[in-house]
Amino acid sequence: MTIVRSLAELRKARSELKGRLGFVPTMGYLHEGHLSLLKRAKESCDVSVVSIFVNPSQFGPGEDFEQYPRDEARDLALLASLNGGPDLVWFAQKDEMYPTDYQTWINLERKSQGLEGERRPGHFRGVATIVTKLFNSVQPQAAFFGLKDYQQYRVISRMVADLNMPIDIVGCPIIREDDGLAKSSRNVYLSPEERAASPVLFRALSAAKAAYEKGERQASVLVNLAKKLITSEPLFTLDYLECSDAETLQKLTTIDGPAVISLAAKIGKTRLLDNIVLGK
Ligand code: AMP
Repeated sequence: MTIVRSLAELRKARSELKGRLGFVPTMGYLHEGHLSLLKRAKESCDVSVVSIFVNPSQFGPGEDFEQYPRDEARDLALLASLNGGPDLVWFAQKDEMYPTDYQTWINLERKSQGLEGERRPGHFRGVATIVTKLFNSVQPQAAFFGLKDYQQYRVISRMVADLNMPIDIVGCPIIREDDGLAKSSRNVYLSPEERAASPVLFRALSAAKAAYEKGERQASVLVNLAKKLITSEPLFTLDYLECSDAETLQKLTTIDGPAVISLAAKIGKTRLLDNIVLGK
């Protein structure tokens, strides 16, 4: 596991890696969700690279950029625990990613609207831009993204197709705690009381999926069922809970193909995301 920081070091180390390269971009404070992406990369590629960079441009004003958990030693130990880790770990540096007078941004017209894009203006502009820069630097043949951030996965897939980037984008399943809470670096923000309340999100999504599997196809019925469960937990404030087409992310009235129910909810100071795919 070679560790690099500067672009010059990265380019040199990259030039020595041969074969199909699988890439896992992350913001660090790693957990089993991230490791599952690396596992897929290692299984399906000849060499693997993980990047760690808390990307300032995807955080809005008043969001948690400053507080976002960071622990390089912990991350390196976790990576190494997975079969020796990736071939290369890159701690990207802010002054190289966003040099003085930085001006170039990637914007998607539709996929980044609605859901997270609507609540976090500029978020996907930051995500699409940093991912493009990371791709340009690492030059992977495949990149692995968690379905935990479902809209992000769709945004990146669209961007790669639109810009003719020769990279396979692989969506990987959500890794959860035993009680159903989706693993997230932000779960460390939860107090014990908040942590105990959090599995209600997955319970609500699972109840909606069970109703779907029994034949319910009215999106509003599934959405209201899930909302009712979440609002029964007083610590949560629901930001949104919507049923969308799994590919276009257009809001659905009637479900007649693969769909996704996505939500964001606040508990205390923490904003949690989750989703469940229907019909796949
Ligand atoms: P982050 O470090 O939060 O930017 O996440 C880096 C990558 O890990 C993204 O592709 C996320 O979707 C993915 N990821 C985060 N949490 C999970 C999880 N619980 N299961 C699967 N993938 C995840």
